[in-house]
Amino acid sequence: MSAPYAEVIGDPIAQSKSPLIDGFWLKALGIEGDYRRRHVTPGDLAAYIGERRVDAGWRGCNVTIPHKVAVMDLVDDPGNIRGTIGAMNTIVRQPDGALIGTNTDAAGFYAPLAELDLQGAPVVVVGAGGAARAVLFALARAGVGSVTILNRSPLKAMGLLATFGLKGDVAPLDASLPPAALLVNASSLGMTGQPPLDLDLAPLPEDAVVYDLVYAPLQTGLLKAAAARGLDTVDGLDMLIGQAALAFELFFGAPPPEGRDEELRALLTA
Ligand code: NAP
Repeated sequence: MSAPYAEVIGDPIAQSKSPLIDGFWLKALGIEGDYRRRHVTPGDLAAYIGERRVDAGWRGCNVTIPHKVAVMDLVDDPGNIRGTIGAMNTIVRQPDGALIGTNTDAAGFYAPLAELDLQGAPVVVVGAGGAARAVLFALARAGVGSVTILNRSPLKAMGLLATFGLKGDVAPLDASLPPAALLVNASSLGMTGQPPLDLDLAPLPEDAVVYDLVYAPLQTGLLKAAAARGLDTVDGLDMLIGQAALAFELFFGAPPPEGRDEELRALLTA
């Protein structure tokens, strides 16, 4: 049998950093396997899944835009991802050919916050798209207190509070911040080519943490403003690497090597 392989699928796909991350770990662990980038259009998604289902060398795939919702119709969902986060980012092939879909974004997001006591804490989340769903799912499980969602479309944000059983409120992007313990940017604002996210961080307490999911650029305007105020920050690479690590273990049966994150981060920002 040929060496096992996994893939990342999306449309477009050239921008994906997953092959770099998984390739680095495969090499570091000396695993004979491959991780590939595969351009799959929406019209080709069902055929792609059908072909891979009967390919014993294929361990699974990471799923990126625009397939995270559509792929849920093509695979098994034992963890009820459809009824919770509502999007899958990882498909794993079982030895009998069954395909299980899951989502590693929520756990990848939460990992850098695991030491924080967020029980009952007020938080702010900017954005109400796919990434925000994973963030809100994780925050609900962490038992946070009041959640303020700032978003361009308030109705969408309102729906998310209800979906995840969170109490809180919704405000426009230019609203002043409440004194939250954690501020998360889960919107596209601040990304290269997108408008900046201009927030006045003055209302945040001195021990607040500011977390930006955007990783291009890595040092966003939001993180720079937070650092200038002396606040702790978490950048988007932590989540990117965290969600990839969980998927890697599902594909190749071994966790990524320990103590190599700085090297990987340098590779990703070169
Ligand atoms: P998405 O589903 O398309 O949602 C985009 C969000 O940004 C929505 O809330 C949208 O507001 C808002 N938005 C977009 N353009 C805007 C504009 N011009 N003005 C105001 N609001 C705007 O995208 P996503 O998948 O959630 O991704 C969001 C960001 O998270 C991206 O930067 C992505 O790279 C990043 N991300 C990072 C990781 C990681 O591992 N670090 C993982 C996933 C995503 P509306 O609701 O009003 O449309």
